[in-house]
Amino acid sequence: MFKKIIEAIGSLFSSLFGGGKKKPSSGGKPKPSLPDTELPQDGSEIRPDTIVVVADEMEKIVIQPGEVDADFDEDLFEEEKPANEGPGPVVVTPDPDPEPVPQPEPQPKGRYLWCLDNGHGKQTPGKRSPLFDDGATRLFEYEFNRDIVARMVKQLDEKGVSYFITVPEVDIDDFLEGRVNRANAKKSNLPKIFVSIHSNAAPARSSESWAPDTISGIETWHFHGSKTGQKIASIFQKHLINETGWVNRHLKSRPQGQFYVLRRTRMPSVLTENGFYNNKAQAADLMKPEVRQKIANAHVKAILEIEANGLESA
Ligand SMILES: [Zn+2]
Repeated sequence: MFKKIIEAIGSLFSSLFGGGKKKPSSGGKPKPSLPDTELPQDGSEIRPDTIVVVADEMEKIVIQPGEVDADFDEDLFEEEKPANEGPGPVVVTPDPDPEPVPQPEPQPKGRYLWCLDNGHGKQTPGKRSPLFDDGATRLFEYEFNRDIVARMVKQLDEKGVSYFITVPEVDIDDFLEGRVNRANAKKSNLPKIFVSIHSNAAPARSSESWAPDTISGIETWHFHGSKTGQKIASIFQKHLINETGWVNRHLKSRPQGQFYVLRRTRMPSVLTENGFYNNKAQAADLMKPEVRQKIANAHVKAILEIEANGLESA
């Protein structure tokens, strides 16, 4: 049996320099000090001095039928309710969602509605590789994420699996709240599962420097404490490693400051980090159509396995 390992270098850091989060008062959850949308939103933004829990994808997760699980941060939704009640000025929050994008209604077929989050947009700063040796080419994460989703969708259509693409627009910034709101608001007779697809970045001297080539591979994130999330993540991670043969960085979650797309999606959710776009060799691989196809195939295999078996242990 694989034991969970805590990468706690940073907790030491924090206690030494007083930079740690305050302990939660009794009965309350720790509150992030930054607005949700400014917290790290994928693996590339994780500072080395934070606690990350690593789990093995071979760990068997048993979910009993009807078992209650925590798939998202319910406290956040509790806090939001009374916003406009009582006398006083009514605060109108601008809708972060621009024009709704017409999409074909997914057919109510299969077991789940897969909310495919292609993350980031053309206007997102950063999230791109340094220049390759030709002085002209870069890998842009938004383009990679979208290409993986496009390749997946072709197969999901053939297999008759229901899906919803959170951000079909390309010329857009991160649109973090919007894509989560769209998934939450999406009406479906089927239970929904959110899959956010990314490529990772390792610490480097600058955005124009390649990171050390020792850092590479694939990891899948889930909502900390969610058995369902961990089970879904384990299935994606297994197929991603099988298809690519890349370094297995296992399953990850953060007890504090969890990614927005994991905390705010009112459904089980996972986030895949497919290779490192600032590892020079891996970025070159991530540009290749055949490698992208393998990554897309792995996501589809995971979806088909979950479609076939469900998530509860019968
Ligand atoms: Zn990303």
